Amino acid sequence: MAKITRKPAPRKTAVPKKKAKAAKAKIATPKAATPKAAKPKAAKPKPAKPSAPAKKSLRAIKPNSFKPWTPAEVREVFTRFQRANPEPRGELEHVNPFTLLVAVVLSAQATDAGVNKATRELFKIADTPQKMLDLGEERLREYIKTIGLYRTKAKNVIALSAKVLNDFGGEVPRTRAEIESLPGAGRKTANVVLNMAFGEHTMAVDTHVFRVGNRTGLAPGKTPLEVELGLEKVIPAEFMLHAHHWLILHGRYTCLARKPRCEVCLINDLCRWPEKTV
Ligand code: SF4
Repeated sequence: MAKITRKPAPRKTAVPKKKAKAAKAKIATPKAATPKAAKPKAAKPKPAKPSAPAKKSLRAIKPNSFKPWTPAEVREVFTRFQRANPEPRGELEHVNPFTLLVAVVLSAQATDAGVNKATRELFKIADTPQKMLDLGEERLREYIKTIGLYRTKAKNVIALSAKVLNDFGGEVPRTRAEIESLPGAGRKTANVVLNMAFGEHTMAVDTHVFRVGNRTGLAPGKTPLEVELGLEKVIPAEFMLHAHHWLILHGRYTCLARKPRCEVCLINDLCRWPEKTV
């Protein structure tokens, strides 16, 4: 009879109690029951921001980074502007120096068209400092409430009317310092009033003139004052009376901030902007 030999039973390895519990728990927990960590949603690609050629352009052109303009070239530019528009006019509607002053104060950070829309009715009843005071701040606000910052502007217009009446005999003063002393009036206001009302050779630098001065390279500058002084330095005196308007109109209708219309620009052969499209 064959001898049956029994295999010895495998020795149980001692599992530490803690580990065993954990393993049990692991097995016992059904997979599906484990809440999945929320997968972060793939971020939707943001639409590309439209490039801002205006800012880029102003950074791109630096003083001394382009061929300097010769006096003959500057003269040529303004001769062309003059030929195209011999008597340029500002677009702010007014009927006398006082209403011009008020319109310029109202035009800060607003469009000329927006200001005109409001002042057309206002100036019918308030075209002198006294009439403006008679109208009063509250009623004035009603006329100009479509213009940005109208509350502050209404306050300034009333205050400047009082000052024009009390300190300057009701007449808009004729010096820069005096105009700048009026509430709400700064250097640009003084330049516009001196130029348009009194025929002085001043250069008011608004957003359009600032852009054109920089892009063309005629008068690059980081501040409106730098551009103003630069333009005054290079523009021949005979063009200075209208230069401010030619440059504003050029910036407003041709050398546009986002998409300059270089292909129809009168001075595209002379302009120094590295990004001009012709
Ligand atoms: S070519 Fe004319 S429109 Fe173009 S950037 Fe120069 S000035 Fe502006």
